[in-house]
Amino acid sequence: MKVPMVDLTEQYHRLKDEIDAGMRNAMETAAFILGPNVQAFEKEAADYLGVKHAIGVGSGTDALHLALLALGVKAGDEVITTPFTFVATAEAIKYVGATPVFVDINPNTFNIDLTEVEKAITAKTKAVIPVHLFGQPVDMPALKALCDAKGLKIVEDCAQSFGASINGKQTGSFGDLGAFSFFPSKNLGCYGDGGMVTTNCDELAATVKQYRNHGSKVQYHHSLVGYTSRLDELQAVVLRAKLPLIDEFNNNRRRVDQTYKTMLAGTGIQMPFEDGVGKHVFHQYVCLHPKRDQILQALRDNQIACAIYYPVPLHKQEVFAKECDGVSLPITESITSQCFALPVYPELSEEKIKLVTDTIKTAL
Ligand SMILES: *Cc1c(COP(=O)(O)O)cnc(C)c1O
Repeated sequence: MKVPMVDLTEQYHRLKDEIDAGMRNAMETAAFILGPNVQAFEKEAADYLGVKHAIGVGSGTDALHLALLALGVKAGDEVITTPFTFVATAEAIKYVGATPVFVDINPNTFNIDLTEVEKAITAKTKAVIPVHLFGQPVDMPALKALCDAKGLKIVEDCAQSFGASINGKQTGSFGDLGAFSFFPSKNLGCYGDGGMVTTNCDELAATVKQYRNHGSKVQYHHSLVGYTSRLDELQAVVLRAKLPLIDEFNNNRRRVDQTYKTMLAGTGIQMPFEDGVGKHVFHQYVCLHPKRDQILQALRDNQIACAIYYPVPLHKQEVFAKECDGVSLPITESITSQCFALPVYPELSEEKIKLVTDTIKTAL
């Protein structure tokens, strides 16, 4: 590959001394479960995000699951979310026995359309999961006003949005709870699976902590059926090394966006949208063009990585198709037939971007 989708080795080489030393120290100390690095990272992440509590868990999927459990979402409840997301968002709703209700998206932001959310509310609706898709923040002040008026809870899916903000306030600090993923390729990624739940509510924080650790508040005393879902101590070492650099990483992703926008101006490609209020952190660089398949073929022929996020919306996925029979979400369906993702990562050079954009211009 002349240009990969993402290159995780450059950050490691930059931070190698710190990460290697931290890992060695953790292994010598042998406090592997909820050890000092997890505790320190939870505090550092909470400070960065401007929340009272950050709770390290096993993955982003677990973060969503434990957040819904803490809210008491259960069988018979409906949870409104977007069909244009990674499957984990809806899997978590199914884990607690509730029903995902998919509503259509905004064609510019690709995020859930708030007027569609309002239309989908029923007596059974318990919560909404907005997804800050590709790093683009959902209009949380407006969603929160709607949910407060209707008595609905919010779990923000921040798996793709670490460091994204609205008027300077971080995603993951607006809802009742926020769910983050540290999957290696996420904006803040570790070297395996990892996740985190955020909240400003002491009670919800205590419940999430209980669920991540076998339902116990005091060791060997169990008051509910919990899980084994703790952020790993070695992963916390990686995350502590990277967290101080997250703004630099995200600002470099924004530089890549600016270069793509300059180089691809006039091609007719719909580039990622920004409204000037939310700070987009470009986890993925998703564009639209009716000749998507030709663009992708040209990129592949020239050894440039590219991808489709996401080729099939959730209401059309085999796992949900039966319960979504008859559901029509035309904007989402139209976007999934035209979307394609270009390489984006903080270290992506201007030279490599030019290779991508020259290839696309030639193809068109
Ligand atoms: C990655 C991702 C998740 C799941 O995170 P994992 O850590 O892989 O479990 C959930 N939602 C969205 C939108 C994601 O992109």
